[in-house]
Amino acid sequence: MERIYIDRQLCEACKGCMLACMAKHNGENIDTLDLLDTSNQSANLIEQSSQGEVAPIFCRHCDKPECVEACMSGALTKDKETGIVSLDQNKCAGCWMCVMSCSYGMINKDTNANVAFKCDLCKDREKSACIENCPTGAIELIEVGEGRA
Ligand code: SF4
Ligand code: SF4
Repeated sequence: MERIYIDRQLCEACKGCMLACMAKHNGENIDTLDLLDTSNQSANLIEQSSQGEVAPIFCRHCDKPECVEACMSGALTKDKETGIVSLDQNKCAGCWMCVMSCSYGMINKDTNANVAFKCDLCKDREKSACIENCPTGAIELIEVGEGRA
C-alpha cells in the first residue's frame, strides 16, 4: 500500500501542489487556472503558522477511515488492495457527514455540484499531480504496511 509522505523540512509553502491538484481535478493546466473561480478546489492544504512553520495537510487514506464510516450513501469506500479511500461523487448525497467526521479536515464541499471532494491519490495517473508539481521533492509516495495510518 502506498501513502503520501511529506517532508516538512523541504516544504517551502509555495502551494504548487495545491494548484496542481486544482488544475488536475478541473481538467485544466496550472497556467490557465482561473484562481478567481471559487469552484477550483484543492484536496490538500498547505498552512503556515504565524511563526512561519509550514504544515502540509493531506488525506491519510486512513486504515479505519471515519469518513467511510460516516457516509450513509456508500459514496466513500476504501480499496483493500491499494488502501486508497475514494469518493464516488455520483453516489454522494451532499449531507456533509464525511466533512464533519474527518479529524484532518480533508474532505471539501463542492458547493456548486453539492457533492463532496477529496484526494484520490490521482489513481488515474502514473504520478500524483501534487508530487509532480512540487519543486523541492517534499512529497513522495511511500510503501507502508497496514496499521501505520
Ligand atoms: S478524508 Fe479524513 S478520515 Fe477520510 S481517509 Fe482521508 S484523512 Fe482519513
Ligand atoms: S456528503 Fe456525500 S460522501 Fe459525504 S457522507 Fe454525505 S453522501 Fe457520503
